[in-house]
Amino acid sequence: MERKNNKLYSIVLDVVNYSVRGGELVEALKVRALPEGSDDRNALIEFLKLYRDVLQLVVNRLWSLNEVPSIKTLHRMFYSELRNRGFRAHHVKQIYVYAKAVVRASKQNGGKKPVLRRLTARIDRYDYRLDLENRMLILKIHENREVKLRLLTSTERVEKFRGWSNYEIAVKVVEDEVYVAVYFKKTVKFRKPRTVMTVDVNFDNVTLAVFAPSGKLLKLKRYRTPLRRMLTHRIWIERIQRRYSRSWRFIRGVRRAIRRHGERIRSIAWDYAHKIGDSIAELTSRYSSIIVLENLNKLRSNMNRSNSFNKKLSLWFYRRVQFTISYEALERGLLVSYVNPMRTSSTCPRCGSRLEDGGSRVLRCGRCGLTGDRDVIACINLFYRYSRCGVLGVTLNAPKGDAYPRPMRGNRNEAMKSTNINLHQS
Ligand SMILES: [Zn+2]
Repeated sequence: MERKNNKLYSIVLDVVNYSVRGGELVEALKVRALPEGSDDRNALIEFLKLYRDVLQLVVNRLWSLNEVPSIKTLHRMFYSELRNRGFRAHHVKQIYVYAKAVVRASKQNGGKKPVLRRLTARIDRYDYRLDLENRMLILKIHENREVKLRLLTSTERVEKFRGWSNYEIAVKVVEDEVYVAVYFKKTVKFRKPRTVMTVDVNFDNVTLAVFAPSGKLLKLKRYRTPLRRMLTHRIWIERIQRRYSRSWRFIRGVRRAIRRHGERIRSIAWDYAHKIGDSIAELTSRYSSIIVLENLNKLRSNMNRSNSFNKKLSLWFYRRVQFTISYEALERGLLVSYVNPMRTSSTCPRCGSRLEDGGSRVLRCGRCGLTGDRDVIACINLFYRYSRCGVLGVTLNAPKGDAYPRPMRGNRNEAMKSTNINLHQS
């Protein structure tokens, strides 16, 4: 089965910060690299070993202290000593900052003193030169030496980073292969939203609904999720594990079969997330929407229909879909807002009563008589929840005054008009 070349997304997504500061998008380009000659290879390995040993030394010394010192103190403690060992100024800083993080993480988890084995280093932008055009990387290593690496990647993959800045790289050697991750960033300028897109994700469907500020439903799109297909692979894995309950870990063919099903699950999820991502990209540029997503940390009762593995898989899948959506949005300068999804698919958007299940995904309100599709109702509720309390992005971006009015209670029926239409698209 052919697999798509998955983009390696890495994103810094601080919901509050990015909307306030204009936002920054971070993405890593991860590639294999080839040293120009054997001298370069040896020098790189020598550097990485030295780097690791010195990192360990700093970790050891920090470990014996009661308190992890500040960066300033670390600088005083280690700067000249490490410089004397042939490291450049920025190497030194990277080393003690990293050591501090390692020690702190291990102490917080009540762990043992970390022992570093891997050959890996983070290198600051002052200590490398990157020629994207020719895919060449020059690393400045210890004792003022340089190492030349050729990045094994295509022009197409590099193309997207034109206009981005890069600020750090990570190099590692695993089983004689050299890998490089280049961290790129781009500042995002946010557009002023004209409409609101809410996204409801549940086990069966992902539903996108675009609303005008008045509450009028402008567009509805629905995609069936591949969760059932993913579960089939999961069931296969369980079946195999049950059949070889004691031995599956030790038989190569069995392990491979399990791995293959796992890969299928992941690639189905990726392909799907990209499909949704493309659709979002198309819709949002047409409608200039702010995107409203469910805050998954608040999601609990929505998933009582499934066993625990089911839940875990769904949540993992929801996060993947949301991740792609927020990434596509950020790339286009669109804001993302998160709202509490509790009971969005069981509350009547017109009168607030609890809805009754009318079967085949239709919900009915016993009090006001509203009938509607479950997914559409969830989208409408997300919209109201957003426009009532979660106006974070809009209030920050919109000019003062009522340039972006919230829907009035009276307008609610307008959004309601389309709820009976069944726009299934899968
Ligand atoms: Zn009602």
